[in-house]
Amino acid sequence: METKICSKCGEEKQVSLFRYMRRQCKDCVKKYRQEYDKGYYPAHKDKLYAKVKKWRIDNSDANKKYSSKYRANNLEKCKSYGLKYRDANKDKIYVRNKKWRIDNPDKVKICLHKYKTNLINTLDDKYIKDRLKESGFDKSSIELDQELIMLRKIQIQLKRKLKTIKNESKSTTNQ
Ligand SMILES: [Zn+2]
Repeated sequence: METKICSKCGEEKQVSLFRYMRRQCKDCVKKYRQEYDKGYYPAHKDKLYAKVKKWRIDNSDANKKYSSKYRANNLEKCKSYGLKYRDANKDKIYVRNKKWRIDNPDKVKICLHKYKTNLINTLDDKYIKDRLKESGFDKSSIELDQELIMLRKIQIQLKRKLKTIKNESKSTTNQ
């Protein structure tokens, strides 16, 4: 087996433990490199940091494109991660949300109002069912009768349409 004597540590080692044509063994080279880095990084930290920062700014569009592409390509992965997280932390999330609701009653009111307005504007089934209940239908028959929900929806749409037509004609006669 071919050996070589390291010029640094003076040990006789296998040739494979030396880089090609080097007089110092790999261990010594590595040690030297580490010592060098230890001194180099603190001394050049600011310069290096500025370089990285400049690169980020110069490439920010490319970076943005990259991350949105990454998200698009990994949407399913991200989604399933989110689901897993929510599933594993159900209790924690519930407590956190409850605390937030107690701490932010005004925001809760606004959210609820937005939610209800949205249900009304989009004629959501939930809103239609509530209206049917108000009209005296019982809950179980509403759930079973999809046609009833549809008819009530059309009725409300018709009412709204008539109202807009009336308003439009009113504003034209006033002009
Ligand atoms: Zn050595």
